[in-house]
Amino acid sequence: MDVYIKKMKFAVTGHTSGIGKELSNRFDIIGFSRSNGYDIAKDRKRIVEESKECDVFINNAQQCFHQTELLYELSRQFKGKIINIGSGAKDLTKPPRKMLSIKQYSVQKLALVHANDQLFEEGIDTCVLNLGFVDTPMVRRHNFKKFSTIEVVELIEWIIKSPHNKRDNSMAKISWNEKIKFLQLLCFIGGPLVLLLNFNVFYLLYSIIASWFIVHIGISVGMHRCFAHCSWKPKNKFIEIIIHFLSTINVVGSSITWVGTHRLHHETADTDNDPHKIAGQPFLVKLKYWFNFWPSHRVSPLLIKDLMEDPIHKFFHRNYFKILFSYMAILALIDINLFLYGFIVTTMFSLHTISWITVGAHIIGTKQNPTLDDSRNTFIMGLFMWGEGWHNNHHYKPTSYEFGQGWKQPDIGKHLIRIIAKPESLKAYSVIKR
Ligand SMILES: [Zn+2]
Ligand SMILES: [Zn+2]
Repeated sequence: MDVYIKKMKFAVTGHTSGIGKELSNRFDIIGFSRSNGYDIAKDRKRIVEESKECDVFINNAQQCFHQTELLYELSRQFKGKIINIGSGAKDLTKPPRKMLSIKQYSVQKLALVHANDQLFEEGIDTCVLNLGFVDTPMVRRHNFKKFSTIEVVELIEWIIKSPHNKRDNSMAKISWNEKIKFLQLLCFIGGPLVLLLNFNVFYLLYSIIASWFIVHIGISVGMHRCFAHCSWKPKNKFIEIIIHFLSTINVVGSSITWVGTHRLHHETADTDNDPHKIAGQPFLVKLKYWFNFWPSHRVSPLLIKDLMEDPIHKFFHRNYFKILFSYMAILALIDINLFLYGFIVTTMFSLHTISWITVGAHIIGTKQNPTLDDSRNTFIMGLFMWGEGWHNNHHYKPTSYEFGQGWKQPDIGKHLIRIIAKPESLKAYSVIKR
């Protein structure tokens, strides 16, 4: 554990089980639970008084709206950092019929989130952590993926150590942003329409070549090998920004969201928790996924904390649509055909190229390495898609910047990386999995 955290004093409500118990195993805590004579409904003032000297207050015990009321009480007197344990269930205030029993709990947790937001705006050092399901005795019998209490404690350590002050450290819910969906559909549908109504063979050739470079430098070399797997680092800031820009104009979302989904894909490939599980799906689902209609999913901030702390990733994430719409507007102002072919048709090709990997590379091809998933290698995709077709190799050794192994497995991407990377940053054939 970090020395800085080791010296801190923690106050924890509900310290005898679940997350609270894990915290009491790790930190020097003062615990407040019914078992040692505290009731957060009746003893709030006493709890706040007795935790006065602590550096961090973990507001963990859930009991009707009393967790929210305790937060208000803390905001008046407590001088340290307050971390509220919320719940992913706060999204279910209008639950589906079969989950009606969760409604009350959801409303109570949502009240906590709102109280936290209000107090944060007023300058209180408070944040909320809305997790999905955590492996506690309460939900142990359910058969869905859960966070371990150890992972939650690691997340709390990260929040305390991080220099930034965020009001919400929840698991990011990655659902398809409507603007991205609209732009993707514009390209998927608009591309064939442009070709039908305004055909020009010269422009078409330009689009194919432009897409070949934009998607492979932006997504394969940049977003995938550099940002998601950290297998190489750009030689200088100029190259880094170009890669960020090229990844942005492919219309697949910001690096922070794309990488979150992709790292989750590697952790859970071809299981029910894989955000775009392909194996065993009916044809229509495969077709839907080809056009990027995946179910929304949650990504832990721990999975993308390196990107969330990086100023360039944060800048491109916050200004994603400003950059994208400016790029589209500039193309249209120069020449409408530059917009129609240079953006719509080019991006249509790029999106289909990416789907060849997300969908095709887990169905078609050969399995060369003993991976637990269904990832495949395909020569033709390896050749034309800058090495991305060696997807089984990639799942076997995800942190390697080389996807093709040896000269018989062509990989244009790795040759470009050797030119634009800091040589000491190159990771080849590492067996450490991300
Ligand atoms: Zn990958
Ligand atoms: Zn894969």
